[in-house]
Amino acid sequence: MKIGFIGLGNMGGPMAANLASAGHKVTGFDLVAPCPQGVARATSATDAAEGADVVITMLPNGAILRDVAASVIPAMRAGAVLCDCSTVDVDSARVVAQQAVAAGLGALDAPVSGGVGGASAGTLTFMAGGSDAAFATVLPLFDIMGQKAVHCGSSGAGQAAKICNNMILGATMAVTCEAFALADKLGLDRARMFDVVSTSSGYSWSMNAYCPAPGIGPQSPADNDYKPGFAAELMLKDLRLSQQAAESVDAPTPIGARATELYARFVEDEGGKGRDFSALLPHFAGRGRG
Ligand code: NAD
Repeated sequence: MKIGFIGLGNMGGPMAANLASAGHKVTGFDLVAPCPQGVARATSATDAAEGADVVITMLPNGAILRDVAASVIPAMRAGAVLCDCSTVDVDSARVVAQQAVAAGLGALDAPVSGGVGGASAGTLTFMAGGSDAAFATVLPLFDIMGQKAVHCGSSGAGQAAKICNNMILGATMAVTCEAFALADKLGLDRARMFDVVSTSSGYSWSMNAYCPAPGIGPQSPADNDYKPGFAAELMLKDLRLSQQAAESVDAPTPIGARATELYARFVEDEGGKGRDFSALLPHFAGRGRG
């Protein structure tokens, strides 16, 4: 396929490189990031989109996505698919999809889970919203960039799945970290606590696969001085998107709201920026209740 790829940062760069190594003709554009090997450099987003069968975007936020979409949609050939893999607000995903469909294109919102490691290894999970036809067109590309793609429903459903997942993740990691800090103060050994919880009803991905306590469980950012991994500020971005979405549909999210406040303070006032999101554990471990 002929693919235009816009946004070649930490995630988009390796995703575009994997598509090129699988034999697709990839033309990329980014304002600053270099083009990975095998990807031809376009002079603009519009240039990357012209004549492409699929245009993939991997951008920082919804406002930038809306800008880029406004310039690429008129340049795309009829029947091509615009597939946004960024994590953005549900409203932006829906507005961009409507504009693309009105212009005779297919549209998908297809955010990912799996981080930079998954992008490089081609093991991302895609959660997609949009038509059956658009999903079927892009599925072979999802199979190269990832190991699983779920068609979640109509436009916006992919972003909805992503923010629900990450709201659970943020809240679960926060409570896992506070439980370790509580165990410390109660004199319960962290390794014993892991042994119990990882095989009891408190188990979770945060505990079992990404344990925030160093030296316990499988290798995780805790074993590498909490270098990300998944940075606390990216978790905060996703938590804020979850709260924005919850407000827009009047859904109660008391625990999600509390996790958002915790990560906001951690990132903005308490030195959490640039650290893994599991670094809430050393943060809690050094404190009292006040
Ligand atoms: P990044 O900042 O490394 O990459 C974004 C790229 O977009 C940058 O290179 C930037 O120069 C480029 N860009 C910005 N405006 C542009 C424009 N108008 N035209 C062309 N290029 C433009 O970010 P990232 O880590 O690659 O994340 C990309 C998206 O993926 C975000 O929405 C993020 O939330 C999501 N995501 C990231 C991770 C992760 O672990 N990094 C995991 C899952 C999802």
